[in-house]
Amino acid sequence: MKTLADAFEHTLKDIYYAENAIARALPKVIEAVSQNEFKSALLSHLAETKEQIKILAKVFKTIGVSPSGEKCDAIEGLIKETDGIIKEAKGSVARNAALAGACQAVEHYEIARYGTLREWAKTLKNEEAHVLLSEILDMEKAANNKLNAIAINSLNKD
Ligand code: FE
Ligand code: ZN
Ligand code: FE
Ligand code: FE
Repeated sequence: MKTLADAFEHTLKDIYYAENAIARALPKVIEAVSQNEFKSALLSHLAETKEQIKILAKVFKTIGVSPSGEKCDAIEGLIKETDGIIKEAKGSVARNAALAGACQAVEHYEIARYGTLREWAKTLKNEEAHVLLSEILDMEKAANNKLNAIAINSLNKD
């Protein structure tokens, strides 16, 4: 990795790997959740995640690279933590609240990555990638805000 363009390509592959890992991991989380509003928020974010993977393919196209992932250790760790909660949290209140927190950690990771990537795209004068990545960033922020509201209003109760 030498140039900003190299860093952009590397980080794009990182988030592409992460989105695919999230799409594979979410069904298990959805199954473990017992509160309807939370469950349906995750179901719609799973559909959105699949959409994001398609948008990322368009971003790869703007740099003439075919879509591929590069192992993201951060998302592997976050998914591992989430699996741990599913195994350990027996009570439904603890489980739902802890899973909402875990899902928000994933959204925050994504927000960090897309925030960086879209600014690099701008610096690299890749306006198309800037717009596409900003589109995904907005989805991630909205997903995080929705989870936050559900947690505060419905899940974090004892
Ligand atoms: Fe995503
Ligand atoms: Zn890497
Ligand atoms: Fe990563
Ligand atoms: Fe997300």
